[in-house]
Amino acid sequence: MSPPERSISRITGEDTGATAKGTTIRAAAACYDSVVRRLCLPSPNLVGLTRLELEDLALDLGQPRYRGRQLYHGLYRRLLQNPDEFTTIDRAMRREIAGRYEIAYPVVSRGITSRDRSIRYLLGLADGQAVEAVYMPWRAERRDGRTVATPSGRELRSGNADTVTAGAGSKHGPAAESEEPRTTLCISSQVGCAVGCAFCFTGLLGARRNLSPGEIVGQVLTIARERGLWGGKGSESRGAGKSSPRVNIVFMGQGEPMLNLRAVMTAVSILADTEACAIPLRRITISTAGIVPPIYDLAREAVRPKLAISLNASNDEQRDELMPINRKYPLRLLMDACRAYPLRPRERLTFEYVMLNGVNDSGADAIRVAQLLEGLPSRVNLIPYNGGAALSYRPSPMARVNAFQQTLRDRNVPAFIRISRGQDIMAACGQLSLDGVEATA
Ligand code: SF4
Repeated sequence: MSPPERSISRITGEDTGATAKGTTIRAAAACYDSVVRRLCLPSPNLVGLTRLELEDLALDLGQPRYRGRQLYHGLYRRLLQNPDEFTTIDRAMRREIAGRYEIAYPVVSRGITSRDRSIRYLLGLADGQAVEAVYMPWRAERRDGRTVATPSGRELRSGNADTVTAGAGSKHGPAAESEEPRTTLCISSQVGCAVGCAFCFTGLLGARRNLSPGEIVGQVLTIARERGLWGGKGSESRGAGKSSPRVNIVFMGQGEPMLNLRAVMTAVSILADTEACAIPLRRITISTAGIVPPIYDLAREAVRPKLAISLNASNDEQRDELMPINRKYPLRLLMDACRAYPLRPRERLTFEYVMLNGVNDSGADAIRVAQLLEGLPSRVNLIPYNGGAALSYRPSPMARVNAFQQTLRDRNVPAFIRISRGQDIMAACGQLSLDGVEATA
């Protein structure tokens, strides 16, 4: 007996045999089930479905496979949310979709804008949880014959601009790609985080749950619509692969992406597909605290984004204290995985290093980091810590950050000082805790 029959028979007390009465009851059951489903259960969300899944869905609806591709294009390229807007799809299918599915993005509960025009979004999910994502606009400026990436905000352009050295003039740096304005979106892979790094606000939340592919892609779609990054008028006429938005995606928000790798990789496949969001893989970065086994899993993926390692220490003793995951996967295992990682031509592994005053920022630390990375195609991003009162760490003085950078460069390790965005709204790295939103509102 199917579930609807069971439900209706419980209500009516009728037998559901193959009789005329049974047929009526089955029809009533189906109707009842559909009403209950609509009232009580959310309809399946199309956001997060892959091209193949949408093609299968079209077949299930009695439509040809290519209708699924049209749906895919409308969802991720044109950013359509209303089934009526999918004008390339016939009306009957649009009606079916409207009746049986939903197209739901995470909902912006709050957006806080920084002086540098970064925007920190608090995004509500269907089950009442929330995650954060940060929008960071950049513009490229010519300075002393070099192209330099700078924040878009006027205040920081004239004020802190001399700290903007990340990637300046380097073929590995973001600024070398183009002088067009571009955007970095920092997105979350989990609600909260189980890894518990000592300097990180998100770690204070603990682990809540993994995000689905739809919730991951949905963060990008929400901001893309909010900020007009792509979609809208004109996107219909642009063919697949023609409207590559100048967007970088970094998985550096809440959560450890390697602990939710399947969902992350499904989301990446949609974000990178030229028939969907068309963000090139070289502009998508997964950052890990150093969970070693999934690094080997990622290495086997055919479609692979860039990999960044959150290093933050120069030896195991330091790293055990700052990043408890190091007790399980010490530096030797982590560096073995990094050395085994297959890099594409000209690709480098990125190592993120948060500079903590008096903790990991000495000259000896810099020398040890250079030794760890010796012979490995890599670059180091030095991140001045943006501490808050809730944690005891403090930022290294800029002179020490500069000296650290010089020591690495003297040993042929490309090193860049990464500007911290959104400091005034607690949106910088490691500050993506929900409580922080309350504190700065
Ligand atoms: S730094 Fe990353 S891995 Fe560590 S606690 Fe924060 S979110 Fe988790």
